[in-house]
Amino acid sequence: MAAYKRVLLKLSGEALMGEDSYGINRQTIERMVAEVAEVSASGVELAVVIGGGNIFRGIAPGAAGMDRATADYMGMMATVMNALALQDAFRRAGVEARVQSALNIEQVVEPYIRPKAIRYLEEGKVVIFAAGTGNPFFTTDTAAALRGSEIGAEVVLKATKVDGIYTADPNKDPTATRYEKISFNEAISKNLEVMDATAFALCRDQKLPIRVFSINKPGALHRAVAGENEGTLVHM
Ligand code: UDP
Repeated sequence: MAAYKRVLLKLSGEALMGEDSYGINRQTIERMVAEVAEVSASGVELAVVIGGGNIFRGIAPGAAGMDRATADYMGMMATVMNALALQDAFRRAGVEARVQSALNIEQVVEPYIRPKAIRYLEEGKVVIFAAGTGNPFFTTDTAAALRGSEIGAEVVLKATKVDGIYTADPNKDPTATRYEKISFNEAISKNLEVMDATAFALCRDQKLPIRVFSINKPGALHRAVAGENEGTLVHM
């Protein structure tokens, strides 16, 4: 039984890489798509914000001397490529998905139009938001917070490589434990890196809870949508 009617799923580019070091891992994307398809078929309205870090990350080339804004536009273009790959994976799985882009590339994808996105969701289609916020100096986490707020999602589900938020980096500290729940204020005061600060502040201000869960754990998305104790819930 689903706990939510409308959710915003944030998939990072890295999440699509699976075990690979670059690009899109076919098995990973197909497994994720199959889970999303089941959730969508159960009647939950699902929008996806897709990252681009598997293809291009703006900050590193920026630091290496490239103009930051230019690098960021490249990063946003990378998310469009991921969105198209994801849309095609949905098509193969028999799920109707629409891509809407924050940057106008009309020959390739339709532009972001909020009422249209909402209509697609009401029709049971999966909506994939590409090109982040359309602005450099932002991230797709911020796009997830923004689009989630705009479409009236009840939760942002952030699929990552780690199965939640830990007291410390579990890869470095074997004593680190996972939070089942944590408030926005506690996460801020403890300096826990849930999302970047802009995204996090937007979710907090809009009272939009975030659930962080592992993309590599089969069934995790189902349990997150069911409101079960999967990963970590960041709440008011
Ligand atoms: N980006 C941007 N504005 C946005 C969203 C993304 O400039 O609103 C750029 C930025 O360079 C970022 C890249 O696109 O590094 C890929 O996005 P992100 O790092 O959020 O992807 P993820 O880590 O989720 O794969």
